[in-house]
Amino acid sequence: MNDTPQKGKVYLVGAGPGDPGLITLRGKFLLERAEVVIYDHLANVKLLAHAPASAELIYVGKKGGVKHIIPQDGINQLLIEYGLAGKRVVRLKGGDPFIFGRGAEEIEELVKAGIDFEVVPGVTSATAAATYSGIPITHRDYTASVAFITGHEADGKEESNIAWDKLATGAGTIVVYMGIKNLPIITKKLIDNGRSPDTPVAVVRWASTPQQRSVVGTLATITEVVKAAKIAPPALIIVGEVVKLRKTIDWYEHRPLFGKRIAVTRTREQSSELVSKLEEYGAECLEYPTIHIEPVTDYSVIDAALNNMTAYDWLLFTSLNAVTYFFKRLHEKGFDSRALAPCKIGVVGKTTADEVSKYGLRADLIPEQFTGECLAKALISADEVQGKRFLLPRALKAMETLPEMLEDTGGSVTVAPVYQNVPPQGRKEELRKQLLAQEIDLVTFASSSAVTNFLNMLDAQDEAELQQLLKSVKIAAIGPVTAETVRKRGLKVDIQPERYTINDLTKEIVACYCQEC
Ligand code: SAH
Repeated sequence: MNDTPQKGKVYLVGAGPGDPGLITLRGKFLLERAEVVIYDHLANVKLLAHAPASAELIYVGKKGGVKHIIPQDGINQLLIEYGLAGKRVVRLKGGDPFIFGRGAEEIEELVKAGIDFEVVPGVTSATAAATYSGIPITHRDYTASVAFITGHEADGKEESNIAWDKLATGAGTIVVYMGIKNLPIITKKLIDNGRSPDTPVAVVRWASTPQQRSVVGTLATITEVVKAAKIAPPALIIVGEVVKLRKTIDWYEHRPLFGKRIAVTRTREQSSELVSKLEEYGAECLEYPTIHIEPVTDYSVIDAALNNMTAYDWLLFTSLNAVTYFFKRLHEKGFDSRALAPCKIGVVGKTTADEVSKYGLRADLIPEQFTGECLAKALISADEVQGKRFLLPRALKAMETLPEMLEDTGGSVTVAPVYQNVPPQGRKEELRKQLLAQEIDLVTFASSSAVTNFLNMLDAQDEAELQQLLKSVKIAAIGPVTAETVRKRGLKVDIQPERYTINDLTKEIVACYCQEC
């Protein structure tokens, strides 16, 4: 599939219900090779990350009741145009393309135009909504049948395609798509046609996403419940005795960080580990990279050192980036890890040690507490400083505590910049808006520079405004130095792990919210 076929092909791919993990392997495979992706409002945009950077991404969002951004005819036309142009097109549709997805209509047009196509099923939102709200849509003791219906049909149509008389008591579980607007009509039709008004009903909005909300009532009460909870589309209505099982089975909304919005402020490159851990616990993470890491422009110090490694007793790493950029330069200069044989290696913490081990090297020294100061103290107490020579590859701007302590104790330190932190641009307004609307529960900081850059991004006029903006936001800091930087700005640190690792930070965040729940 590496070469563009002469004839184009359109793949109708089910994106699944919302959780980006619910796309099929086949769907992901096709996305990874797409030249054009045409996607809907209900397809999670996170899935677009699977597409190649060169792919053209076209949003044709549709929202029930709201004017279509591109009408169905226009979508069909787009598919035909790109198909005829010989492109490999992924038409990414929410849920399953053939369940209330107008997939067949799109294909009929492709057939007319003589364009090849393929269809990849997806997890439909009905099963996802049920599963993620703790409702098994079938159960031996409750129901042996399930019906998927559209709620659009109920709307003023003289002759509905739905046989309400048969459906009301004919299907054990009934799942209604696009039914929120017509909920009063739907419940009335079911009751009028013989379904008990006491039948349990659940309504699930934005199923399988961090914004999921579910409410439960009966056929008689659910309209009021939905109104009171202000549930708007997209939502599904699940009718049937199986709804009772939610009490026991509900799992998704019970995860400890469910419903929590967390701003994660590491570099984009580094935030993914923390983000995936927090998401595992149910949090919604908003990534606000506050640092952009770039190589330095002047390598003279590190290059001179690399050519003369025998001049050093110790090679010290105080950050993951230092390891990455140091080895990048080492390899660029035609060396490999053997060039470091004359030196012992000291690292600030376990994560950095793990990074070093990727290059086949074992750290000789890891202090008990993961700070530069503690690394210096550990070296001093091991009597490894007096008369020793240290190479310290690091950021262009960094704290001087470690080199100063070593120099003061009779060591000689070569500080060799290998990378620099540059504040990233953009997304300031979005961040301020979210804070003003109190939409962020927690912000995490993994370094002092992240604190400084994040707070600067807020453009607060003074400390008072800063405190006001962050008044309902908890603050998590990875270690004491970062925490101190937060406090210096007049803010309170709510969460700080004893060990300065992403794992421990995650655990503390979970523990903090578990106390509340
Ligand atoms: N092809 C899609 C359905 C498209 S019709 C599928 O298989 O799921 C659009 C309707 O689907 C919405 O009005 C809503 O009722 C339902 N829907 C889609 N995604 C949803 C979600 N994440 N949560 C709740 N309902 C959803």
